[in-house]
Amino acid sequence: MSELHPGTMAVLRTAADDPGGYAAAWKERTGRLAVASFPMNFPVELLHATGSLPVILQESRTPITEGRSLLAEFYCGFSRSVADQAATGELDVYDAVVAADHCVQLLGAVDVIRWISPDKPNHFSQFISSMDDAWTRPRVEDRIAVLREEVERVTGTVVTAAALRRSIRLYNENRALQRELYALRRSGRVRIAASEMQLIVKSSMVMDVEEHSALLATLLGALDSAAPAPEGLVRIHLSGHFCHAPRPEILDVIEESGALVVDDDLYTGYRYISTDVPDGEEPFAALAAWYLDRNLNAPCPTRVTAQVDWDRYLLDALARSESLGVIVLMAKFCEPHMLYYPELRKALDERGIAHLLIETEHEGLPVENLRTRVETFVERIRRQPVRS
Ligand code: SF4
Repeated sequence: MSELHPGTMAVLRTAADDPGGYAAAWKERTGRLAVASFPMNFPVELLHATGSLPVILQESRTPITEGRSLLAEFYCGFSRSVADQAATGELDVYDAVVAADHCVQLLGAVDVIRWISPDKPNHFSQFISSMDDAWTRPRVEDRIAVLREEVERVTGTVVTAAALRRSIRLYNENRALQRELYALRRSGRVRIAASEMQLIVKSSMVMDVEEHSALLATLLGALDSAAPAPEGLVRIHLSGHFCHAPRPEILDVIEESGALVVDDDLYTGYRYISTDVPDGEEPFAALAAWYLDRNLNAPCPTRVTAQVDWDRYLLDALARSESLGVIVLMAKFCEPHMLYYPELRKALDERGIAHLLIETEHEGLPVENLRTRVETFVERIRRQPVRS
């Protein structure tokens, strides 16, 4: 049962469902550039500081046609969808493409865009994945310096420290507004469906940040935070799903089956908004600090940090949100997730925490099968003895 302002949600949905359409209208309105970035690691503040619109590439709902011959079936749905969007001209609206690497499959999609649109500026940056070695920070700062040069070359705009500071402040404010919604949902004071929360985060990845923050302020202002928490539902944490949003129908089926999603570490979710860029530092160094800090706040299996790991983070998150179980959403053929999942499962099993793995695909959604599995999972949690 949504408590979110319907008119505002409709505006967010329009942008989230059609990022290219939003970007085209924004370019028309402002006369400025729109730059597509690959998900997970690229600091979008750097693009915003040039006056461009940063748009994080999304999986399209369209079935893959042209892209079939460009990337093999064993690439993840996101990579294949991006290849297909490149082949069918859906990415033509973007003036350039940038990526900060985290995965070999993503590399394939970058190469397809380069092959389809050889004249489109396309910068691929390799960020170090070992996060706490002595040489890590200088290397990340070096990558940021190269990114800065590339972004300046592509947009024809010098990124000044003042402009970057302003962009950092705007994105920090936007993340803080989204985290406020997360905290309200976690506390049970406001009911926000998982598909609605995803819509909020997804739209923030594609919209002008100031416009998005104004819409979030409207949403927050219209909330009835005194509404009672629903009863009888099982509190669940959603985990996983990198790079792109799981289908909203999956999230709806989960919540129609007796589960109440109270927290997540999805990329199109808390992972994306977990960490602000430190605003007291020299702004270019601050982007490097953000890259490193984020892995402490929401550890990613594609990065290596000795101090933290995803399983410990997940256990802490479950305690914080008082979740009784975990539903792991895994995109089919997502190697980083597949390789790390046994560690997560082991940690959850050792503590007797119920968990359910759901594999998602670009094509096909066996809704009734999924419903049965989630209902069984929820019922299992309801019947388990209360842990002290
Ligand atoms: S991390 Fe997973 S979802 Fe993202 S590009 Fe790699 S395989 Fe695909």
